[in-house]
Amino acid sequence: MNDLASGTSSASTKLIHGGLRYLELYEFRLVREALLEREVLLKSAPHIIWPLRFILPHHQGLRPRWLIRLGLFLYDHLGGRHILPPSRSVDLTKDETGRPLKEEYTNAFAYSDCWVEDSRFVVLNARDAANRGATIRTRTKVISALSESGIWIIEINNAEGELETVCAKVLVNAAGPWVGDVLRNVVGSNDPDKIRQVKGSHIVVDRLYDHDQCYIFQNADGRICFAIPYETNFTLIGTTDEDHHGDPGKAEITEAEMDYLLGAVSEYFKRQVTRSMVRWSYSGIRPLYDDGASKAQTATRDYILKLDRLEGHAPLLSVFGGKITTSRKLAENALAKLAPFFPNAKGPWNRDAALPGGDLQVAEVPNYILEKQKAYSFLKPANVLRLFKAYGTDIDKLMNGARFGRDLGIFFGPISEREIEYLREHEWAVTADDILWRRSKLGLHMSVAEQAALRNYLDGIQPKKAVN
Ligand SMILES: Cc1cc2nc3c(=O)[nH]c(=O)nc-3n(C[C@H](O)[C@H](O)[C@H](O)COP(=O)(O)OP(=O)(O)OC[C@H]3O[C@@H](n4cnc5c(N)ncnc54)[C@H](O)[C@@H]3O)c2cc1C
Repeated sequence: MNDLASGTSSASTKLIHGGLRYLELYEFRLVREALLEREVLLKSAPHIIWPLRFILPHHQGLRPRWLIRLGLFLYDHLGGRHILPPSRSVDLTKDETGRPLKEEYTNAFAYSDCWVEDSRFVVLNARDAANRGATIRTRTKVISALSESGIWIIEINNAEGELETVCAKVLVNAAGPWVGDVLRNVVGSNDPDKIRQVKGSHIVVDRLYDHDQCYIFQNADGRICFAIPYETNFTLIGTTDEDHHGDPGKAEITEAEMDYLLGAVSEYFKRQVTRSMVRWSYSGIRPLYDDGASKAQTATRDYILKLDRLEGHAPLLSVFGGKITTSRKLAENALAKLAPFFPNAKGPWNRDAALPGGDLQVAEVPNYILEKQKAYSFLKPANVLRLFKAYGTDIDKLMNGARFGRDLGIFFGPISEREIEYLREHEWAVTADDILWRRSKLGLHMSVAEQAALRNYLDGIQPKKAVN
């Protein structure tokens, strides 16, 4: 109903992961499916998904070493690991990852998962769907849905603010944290399944250390906290787990969450991490299925698909919960449930398909980047790297034969007029926030003047010269 990924899908920790912690909750089905998906997704989009190495320091008072070893053994062997290296022990007194940590931490374990640019993952899925014939309508809200003679009559408020009616054979309610709201207020269900809204917040601080590995810290309350290298100059820290009530679109970090995250990482780093280092924060709502768990952190992270097919009514499929990591499998399972209504549909097909810009091998990525840095040497190498990590092989489509910086139009700091127009034309970007916070994270890098000029440009005011 707003921009793509303006809900939970731009507010995650951005990991394609099995979820080591979920093993403690006996979520073996979820962990196995997620582990298997890691390399499937990595291969489908090696520009926005890349391997990450995690360092888990051993903490005397918390989980015993044998338990962590057992968890990592399962993690290594539950399935699907061909590209990612296995886990191993790390001597923090010798390894570079020990340097930023307090001296009391002498041993750790290292294991692998992947990173994903979460909001770009959504956009690329939308582009892929559009390339295959789907119509993507952002800023379009479903207001009501009525089942009549086996067909859904759906009222929508479109991007121009006008009411429109569309028909559908099947309705899929994938409204994330609004799934219950859609059931109650759009479909008019009297007794919908419940979701538990669990808020998670992250902070972005000035870069805390120099290497490219992440830390997974155990907290005294049994939770874990990640510190992840982020956008070159920063470290991403998260997350919290708090029950949330009210509008999911209005989730914000509280003072208590901020202190919790700063305290959690300061337990481990030599350097105290303080409020003055916080550059940005974001919060999102996990749309978890309400399984009656007492604590927010133990509510199931698995997804539940509910198909309503009352006699004479059009089918309704509602999606509860899920992870970005398991989204492809979730979609496959959703379509399997809907198969009886589409007898001519083909079966699962996208396991080996590339997302837009992802049609190159993982091993080819470093050379491809060097090649593009050479081809577009009129841009700074770091900017070409950024473009690759956003657009992959579509970088050439974006550059469209440019040979000089001036071919890309006016620059607003690192972003060119050409890139802005590409985002408007091919990625449904409308506002400055779409560009600064969801198609990219340039909001962290651009000055106030550059951002203001971008806003003006989108309002039709062209700057006379580059803004930086
Ligand atoms: C703090 C946090 C950390 C996480 N970390 C990870 C992680 O590291 N790895 C991982 O795999 N997963 C992670 N997750 C989980 C993952 O982010 C979510 O499961 C996923 O993003 C949910 O996607 P969704 O499409 O269901 O919901 P959303 O992204 O919220 O999308 C739902 C969409 O429905 C739209 N909508 C709602 N109502 C209407 C309506 N009436 N009409 C039209 N549109 C409507 C909204 O505008 C919204 O865009 C995390 C979640 C949180 C909160």
